[in-house]
Amino acid sequence: MINIEKHWYDVVVIGAGGAGLRAAIEARLAGKKVAIISKSLFGKAHTVMAEGGAAAAMGNVNPNDNWMVHFRDTMRGGKFLNNYRMAELHAKEAPERIWELETYGALFDRTKDGKISQRNFGGHEYPRLAHVGDRTGLELIRTLQQKIVSLQQEDKAQHGAYDARLRVFAECTITELLLDETGGQKRIAGAFGYHRESGEFVLFEAPAVVLATGGVGRSYKVTSNSWEYTGDGHALALRAGAKLINMEFLQFHPTGMVWPPSVRGILVTESVRGDGGILKNSDGKRFMFEYVPDVFRKQYAETPEEADRWYTDPDNNRRPPELLPRDEVARAINSEVKAGRGTKAGGVYLDIASRRPAAEILKKLPSMYHQFKELADVDITSQPMEVGPTCHYVMGGVEVDPDTASAGVLGLYAAGEVSGGMHGSNRLGGNSLSDLLVFGKRAGEYAASYTDTLAKRPKVNDKQVAAAVEEALTPLARDGGENPYTLQSDLQDVMGDLVGIIRRKGELQESLSRLSELKERIRKVGATGGRRYNPGWHLALDLRNMLVVSECTAKAALEREESRGGHTREDFPKMDPKWRQVNLVCALTPTGDVDLTHQPIPMMTPDLLALFDKSELAKYMTDKELS
Ligand code: FAD
Repeated sequence: MINIEKHWYDVVVIGAGGAGLRAAIEARLAGKKVAIISKSLFGKAHTVMAEGGAAAAMGNVNPNDNWMVHFRDTMRGGKFLNNYRMAELHAKEAPERIWELETYGALFDRTKDGKISQRNFGGHEYPRLAHVGDRTGLELIRTLQQKIVSLQQEDKAQHGAYDARLRVFAECTITELLLDETGGQKRIAGAFGYHRESGEFVLFEAPAVVLATGGVGRSYKVTSNSWEYTGDGHALALRAGAKLINMEFLQFHPTGMVWPPSVRGILVTESVRGDGGILKNSDGKRFMFEYVPDVFRKQYAETPEEADRWYTDPDNNRRPPELLPRDEVARAINSEVKAGRGTKAGGVYLDIASRRPAAEILKKLPSMYHQFKELADVDITSQPMEVGPTCHYVMGGVEVDPDTASAGVLGLYAAGEVSGGMHGSNRLGGNSLSDLLVFGKRAGEYAASYTDTLAKRPKVNDKQVAAAVEEALTPLARDGGENPYTLQSDLQDVMGDLVGIIRRKGELQESLSRLSELKERIRKVGATGGRRYNPGWHLALDLRNMLVVSECTAKAALEREESRGGHTREDFPKMDPKWRQVNLVCALTPTGDVDLTHQPIPMMTPDLLALFDKSELAKYMTDKELS
C-alpha cells in the first residue's frame, strides 16, 4: 500500500520564482489558503539569477519615457507577434509593480536625486531597467520572500500557526495535474508530486492551480538555465488540456561564457553592453555596425563615434548596435564565428576593460567580475571576455487570457516564463522580471476569485491518482532500462544540432524522426536505487516533459517558413507579413501526440496602432492589415 501525504488548499502555486511568489502573495491577500511548491530549494529559481534588472517605464532617468514607449519597444522587440493586450498591460502596470516592491522592502540602486535608478538595455529606447547592481533578481526574490514571511507572521498572530494560510513546500516536484471531469467539463481538482528528499508522494487537493514553473532550457547543452528547467509546467498544461503557443521561439542570449568548457553557457549579463561594453571579432574589429537590419536602421548609430556619444547624450545621438535586440546580436556573433573570425573556443570578445575605468566596472558589474575571475581566471577590468550565444529563454508557452492569466482549463492559470504571448517572437532583456510581477499578480488575483465562484469544490479522481503513482514508479521497477542521463544528453544533441539558433528544413525533419526514436527509448527509461533522494529517478520523470516540449518546438519550427525573432530559418531568411498573422498552437491528442494548428493573431486596437508610424507598421504587416 503506497502512502500519500494529503493537503487541502484553495490555490496551489507551482513554482517559487518571481511569478509564483507574486501570485501566492496576491491569492493570500485575497484571503485564500495557499501552497507554494518548488522543485528546487526555496529561494533558488531563475528569478534569483537575473542580473540586469526589471524593465518599467518610470521615467526616472529620462522623463520622456512612458508606458507607450515601452509598449512600442516591446512590440518591436517581439517583431509584432506579441499578444498586444499582454504587452499593453505589462507596459502600463510594470511601474506600479516595481514601486510596490519598494513598499515590501526592496532596495534598488538610486539616481543622484534619490529616485530608483534605471539602466540601458537592448531594444529599450530609454534607460528603463530598475536594478540592484547586477544582482537584481536576488533582491526581487529576497523582497518577495520577506513579504511572504510578514504575511505568515500575521497568520501566526491571527490563526496560531505561521503556515495557516501560506505554506511553502520546497524540494517537492509536481508530476501531474488532477482534473475533475464530471458533467463533461474539465476542472482543476489538484496536483500530484513527490518530495525530492524522501521520495514520498504528495497530493494537493485544490480547485485552482497557478503554473509558474519557468523555462525549458535544459533540453539544450549550452544554456544559461539550471537543472530544474525541464519544461514541466509546459508539459503539465498540455496534459491537462491547455495549449502552448509560439514554441518555435527560443531566445539564444548572445553572450554566454564559452570558456572553460565546464562553464559554457553561463550568462554574461547584457548590462555589460548597456554600460559600455563592445563586441569585437578575432581581428579586433567592432563588427556590430555591419549587422543592423533595415527595420532598426533609423534607431541605431552608424559610426563608433556616434555610438559612444550616445552614452552621455542619448537625446542627440543614436544607440550603439551592440544594444540591438538579442536575436540580432546572437545571429551576428554566430555569423562572425562561422566566417572564421571567432576565438579558438568558438566565441567573440566582449570588451569593457578598454572602455570604462576599473573602479566603475567593479561597482556596476560586481557579479560579472567575480564570475570571470573565479570561473575563467579572467580579470574583466583589464581583459576582454570570451562570449557566444546560449539558450536562455522560451518566448513560447501556455496560452493564457491576457487579463486573467487563465490557461483555458477551469481553475488553471499560468504566469511568468511558462506562459506565452507576451514577448512575441523575441523578449527584450528586463521584460521578464516585470512580466512575472505584472502577470504573477494577475494570476494570483484571478485564481483566488475563481475559487469564490464555485458552488462545490471539484473532486479528486482516485483513478487519476493511482495512474500518477504508477507512472512515477515505473522507471524504478524497470530492470536494465535506458539510462536517463544518456537520454538527456541525446535529446540535447538533437535540439542543439538540429533545432538550434539557425534552422533548416531537412534538419528539422530529421529532428522529428530522432525525437520519435527518443520517445520510444524514454518509454523504457529506468532508474536504479530507491525513492529516497534519487536524482536519476527524478530525471527519468522529467524526460517525458522535456521530450513533449521539444517536439512542440521542432514541429512549430518546421512549420513556420520565415525568420522572425528567436526563430531563424536559413531557407526562409526574411520575415513574411503573412506569418505575422499566425500563432502556431500545440495541443495533445488523446493518444498523447502533438497536434499543431494555426490560429490568427488578434489585431491591435486602433488606439495602440496609432502609437506607430504607418511606415514602420508597413515593415511588418500585410497591405490588407494596414488598410
Ligand atoms: P523561475 O524563476 O524560473 O522559477 C520557476 C520555479 O518553478 C522554481 O521554483 C522551480 O523550482 C519551480 N518548478 C519548476 N518545475 C516544477 C515542478 N515540476 N514542480 C514544482 N516546482 C517546479 N530577466 C529579466 O527580466 N532581467 C534580467 O536581468 C534577467 N537576467 C537573467 C539571468 C539569468 C542567468 C537567467 C537564467 C535568466 C535571466 N532573466 C532575466 C530571465 C528571468 O530571470 C526568468 O525568465 C524569470 O526569472 C522566470 O521567472 P519565473 O517566476 O517564471 O520562473
